[in-house]
Amino acid sequence: MSIISGALYVVATPIGNLGDISARAIEVLRGVTVIAAEDTRHSGKLLHHFGIKTPTLALHDHNERAVSESIVARLQAGEAVALVSDAGTPLISDPGFHLVAQARAAGCQVIPVPGASALLAALSASGLPSDRFVFEGFLPAKEGARAAKLEQLRDDPRTLVFYEAPHRIEASIAAMAAVLGGARRAVIARELTKTFETIHGDTLAGLLQWLAADANQRKGEFVVVVSGAPTEVRGVDGEAERVLRLLLAEMSVKQAAALTAKITGVKKNLLYPFALDISGD
Ligand code: SAM
Repeated sequence: MSIISGALYVVATPIGNLGDISARAIEVLRGVTVIAAEDTRHSGKLLHHFGIKTPTLALHDHNERAVSESIVARLQAGEAVALVSDAGTPLISDPGFHLVAQARAAGCQVIPVPGASALLAALSASGLPSDRFVFEGFLPAKEGARAAKLEQLRDDPRTLVFYEAPHRIEASIAAMAAVLGGARRAVIARELTKTFETIHGDTLAGLLQWLAADANQRKGEFVVVVSGAPTEVRGVDGEAERVLRLLLAEMSVKQAAALTAKITGVKKNLLYPFALDISGD
């Protein structure tokens, strides 16, 4: 594989299991002039493991804007640069946004080298609807701001995905149960790809009890995947949904929504977007 001079490679690294690095990621990390890393000591261990001797430089939240300028200058001079973060895909709740934006604005080629990301690993194994989802990253640490953010998301029909830290997992699940309702289903994905990987689904109320009962389940790294708002919240009750689904099998979305409105009395302007959503199921 030849490395393209003047290109910025955005390289995903494992989120735990080193076997998840791709063959292409190793080749790129070996072939570039320099690797910009969130934490050079942390990434140094990964590079050492794979016998990669490429020099590194630090690019983290506190120096990103300034360092990005000098990296773009190096790209423009024809060097190839790789960007990595401590784990998973750079820019996903990790540094790199300013560098990628500046590189693209300067007309440099930006090449993704995809791989692990905790959010997709969790979603793919959660068993919750994955056709549409919202990634919210970390919820605010302060109680009021956290509740306000959850209020905003309460009626969203899409699956919600959050990152969470061990010292806040219980408080976050409690806040979700309080705002979204204890009956809402969710999955906690802990320590993905690592020895103590646990993927546990229940209602939010059930998850809260489960966490309270076992301190081991409060350790490590977490992704929380939460079911979207039940359809009733959007004004379409179970009976209207049943009728709509029957009619959708026989006619167009527009006709099915109009006829369901006549049969059930539910407003057509609520039924039509809902019918569009479920017609692909
Ligand atoms: N860039 C990373 C990615 O692509 O997933 C995420 C970086 S963010 C700073 C770190 C957070 O990701 C952790 O606090 C946790 O919420 C989640 N995470 C990372 N690795 C994980 C793992 N192995 N299992 C569960 N969650 C993980």
